[in-house]
Order: sequence, then C-alpha cells, then structure tokens
Amino acid sequence: MFVLECSACGGNLVQKDKFWVCENCGTKFLVGQDVNGNAFSYQPVDKKTIEGGKVAPKASSINVNSINVKEIVVNSTSDFDSADGINLTRKENLIMIPKMLENKEWKRADEQINNVLTSDPSCAEAIMYRMMSRLRITNSKQQLINTVCKNFATEKNYIEEYLSVSNEQQVKSVISLMFENCNINDNLYRAIIEFILPYAMNEIVFTKDEFVGRIDTAFDEVIKSKYPQTFEYLLTYALDSTDVDKYITLLKRFAQNISPDAAQKYYNMILKVDAADIETRRNLLTSDLQCDYPCDKCILDFENLLSYSPDMNNEVVRVVNLVSNNDITTANRAEFMWKLLGYHPESPKIFADNILSFAKACLHSSLWSQAKKYFSLLLSIDNSNGDAYWGLCMARFKMNKEQANITNRKEIFDSPEYQKALALYQTSGNEKRVKQLFEFSGTNYKKNIIIKVLIVLFYVLAIPFTILSGGLFSIVVVIGTIIIIKKVKKEKNKGKF
Ligand SMILES: [Zn+2]
Repeated sequence: MFVLECSACGGNLVQKDKFWVCENCGTKFLVGQDVNGNAFSYQPVDKKTIEGGKVAPKASSINVNSINVKEIVVNSTSDFDSADGINLTRKENLIMIPKMLENKEWKRADEQINNVLTSDPSCAEAIMYRMMSRLRITNSKQQLINTVCKNFATEKNYIEEYLSVSNEQQVKSVISLMFENCNINDNLYRAIIEFILPYAMNEIVFTKDEFVGRIDTAFDEVIKSKYPQTFEYLLTYALDSTDVDKYITLLKRFAQNISPDAAQKYYNMILKVDAADIETRRNLLTSDLQCDYPCDKCILDFENLLSYSPDMNNEVVRVVNLVSNNDITTANRAEFMWKLLGYHPESPKIFADNILSFAKACLHSSLWSQAKKYFSLLLSIDNSNGDAYWGLCMARFKMNKEQANITNRKEIFDSPEYQKALALYQTSGNEKRVKQLFEFSGTNYKKNIIIKVLIVLFYVLAIPFTILSGGLFSIVVVIGTIIIIKKVKKEKNKGKF
C-alpha cells in the first residue's frame, strides 16, 4: 500500500473535502489511483487565465538629446598662394619641417616650428607639427591621431587647439582619423565620440549621408566590442528622434551580443517604445530564465508576453518546451514551471512528456521534493507510468542518476516505488527498462532467464520421459508444476515477475 505523505515535507496528509492537506506544511493534494487501485497523492496544478489580445502602437519618436554643433573657422591657411613675402617664407619654412621629423631631428624641427608660429600663431600645420615633434612621431598623421586617441585625456586640449584654427578639409581629415582610431576601450571610445560629434555634425565637415555612414560604422564596432557606455551615448546623441525602427534594431543587436543579465535593460528600453514587440517579450523571459531570476519576475514577464501574444495557448506550449528542454534545472525554474502549467486550459494532460523530462531534470539537479511533485503529477495523468514510479524511487533515495555503486540496493529494491516501477515495466513489456532495473538493483537478470529456460526444458523433456518411464514420470511433472506455480505466485507478490 502506498503511504499518503506530503511530497514537499514528508508530513501526514489528512482529508479535507476533496483535498488532502499536509498537517505539517499545509500543501494541498489530490489523491489518484494507480492501475492496481492503490492510492497516491499529487499536487494539482492551479489553473489561471489572464486577459489576452493586448495591443499597443509603436511610438512615433524616441527621446534624443541635441548637441551644439561646433563652428568651423573658415580662416583658411590657403593664403600661401598670395604673393606676400612673409607668407612665402613661412611656406618655405613649413615645407622643411616634415623632412626634419622624418630624420628625427627633433631640436631643429622645434626651432623651425617656433619660427613659423612666431609669425603666425594660428598656423594649423605648424600646430600639428608641434604635436608630432612633442610625441616623437616621424611622418604620418595617421600615427599622430592614433597616439592622440590612446592618450586622449592628456592630448584632448592639443587636438582641440589644432581644430580651432583648422579649415573644414583639415577638420574632416582629423575627425575621420579619430573615428577610425577611437576603438581602444569603452571609456576612451565614449570620450572621443563625445569630443568629435560636435565637429562631425557640422554639415560643412560631413554631409548628412557621410555622417550617418560614420555613425553606422561606430554602432557596428561598439556592438561588436560590447561597449555599453558608448552604445548608449550614440543612441542618445547620434540618432534623429524619428529613427524609431533603427533604434529598436540597434537595441536588439546589442542585447543579443551581451550577457542575458546585462541585456535586460535594453529589452526594457525596446518595450518602452514598442510594448507589443513579441520577439523582445520572448527574449526578456528567456533571459530571466537564463539568469535564474526568482519565479515572481518570470511570471510577471510571462504574463506580459501572454497578454500581447497572438496565440496564448501556443505561447504557453512554447515556454513549457523552453523550460523543460534542459537536462538540469534550478529551484526558481521548478517553481516557475509549476505555475506556468496552469495557464493552458488542457494542462497538465497535454504536457505529460514535458513534465517527465522536467521531473528528470529536477532529479539531475538534486531537487528531490520538486522531482517528487512532478513525478506525482505525471501519475495523475497516466497512472500506469513506470517512469514516474522509478523517478519517485530515485527521488526518495536521492539518486541523481542510476549509479552502479550504491550501498543501499536492498532498501531500494524493497521500496514500493521500485516494485511498482518494475511491475509496470514488465506489464507494458518494456524489456529494456526491466533489464536496467534488475541490473541496477543487483538482481541477477541472467539467473532469471536461465530459470525460465530450465522450466521450458523441463516440460519439453517431460513428454519423452513420461513415455519412457511408462507414465511414472508424470508424477514428477505434477509435483514440479505445483512447485513452479507456488514459486511464481510468491515472486509475483514481491513484484519480481
Ligand atoms: Zn508537507
């Protein structure tokens, strides 16, 4: 007889109306009957329905911050071309500097740079050469900007000084190089982007299309490099308020690329703009589960998903599959799964397979009381399920898997759950499981087969022996048969055959 005990705490169950309630912890149970008419207790799933078919229009704009665009001084140093004698000298002096830098004649170069700057303190080229000389950079502007970006905190003022006297071509060239060299880390990327956007947004530097191209490349890099600071900065400062779809796409790409925990913030940003985005609602719940968040948070996000879902029942099936599709699980997920089952009108019947695999996952994760709860529920759907009894047996003896080296074989073998499982496997002809269970309990399965073969042989030989002995052997047959019937009956009571 199966003892009616609480699968959560092992307390006694007492009947109250149609339920059985645990004296110890108050958990409510129903009582079912297995194929042999024996009672077992299980916790029923609480059915829950919510209002579905919610709709919400996508926002028509996003919140963006504007930037004060930098004025570019169109002072132009192209007055070289004038016939002015001083300018001519300055031009000649300037031409000599790159050669000196290339030869690492830093002192000579500095003298020459100072000469030029004395006659024209706002000569952009000379200011750039001064930076190159100070940073010991021989000839390339590319190399200079690379160094400036790497040391942006100290070099920021120098490059700003250069830009303040540069014409639009010079600004464009330097800002382009800065765009290409700023991917050092999140902090520097953000600081440099913050610095260059006011120049880049000036339409005499970049056309609208050129600017968008630069920003798209920056987004690609920032998403690939997983830089949250820069990503958020670009979202706020580099998009137009009407870029709703682009904003959502960028958030999805970034969220997909980072940890589920960090992605939560970005899913919520999408839902603020487009509450009915089902894909994001699904992703949010998936990340809840991946992060092993408490059941309440999962239920909240699940109910929101359900309320916007075009097909609520299918949505429940999808999430049940998602949760039960793992070999191991957690206490939070076990709690969530239990509530989740209540949202489908045909639950738990249609989820028998999911419940079995989830119950096994509970076993593998050493969640014994949860495993018992799910195996018992499975019995309430299918009272002749050998797997359910075997699972209950494993849960009782706290076995993660069918280990070969256990010490309490006898105890396990004698347990009602083991005997029930074995009997049900035998009834249903599941030879593979029967063999496995025999092997597991240490019972010699081969010995059983040999006995069966010997019995058959006994009867086959009985006919010639009876004829040969002139009927005398028939007495041995009768006695043998009585012994066999008695033995089989005894074994059957033990559930062995
Ligand atoms: Zn209890």
